[in-house]
Amino acid sequence: MQVNFKRYGLYLVRWQLSTPILAGVGIVLVSMGQLASAIIANLIGGLIFFWVDQFIFTSHTLDSQWEVKENITCVDCGKTARGYRLVRTKDYDRTDDPEPEFRCEECSIKKSGELKEQGFHH
Ligand SMILES: [Zn+2]
Repeated sequence: MQVNFKRYGLYLVRWQLSTPILAGVGIVLVSMGQLASAIIANLIGGLIFFWVDQFIFTSHTLDSQWEVKENITCVDCGKTARGYRLVRTKDYDRTDDPEPEFRCEECSIKKSGELKEQGFHH
């Protein structure tokens, strides 16, 4: 199994968020009795975190993996600079590219904008 650390990090943050939300709901509902307020707090938590978790586990943006390398020659403008290469997204895998194409920061931003327009990520 490959762990996506961005996804894992977000998931840990999401658990931190659930504590104050559920505690807050519990305080508001305390007059209803412990069992009823626990049921409603869990229901509200479920309604919120179903969507949050769905985003965390299915977001294509979180799948993107970039390789960063110093002193590359940008394939677009020829500048020698720190370069970036998009290695992997959901429907794009260049992990074993024999001739990796690096781009300077400026051209990477331009290029990733083009990829978005072509529907590489959503
Ligand atoms: Zn460039």
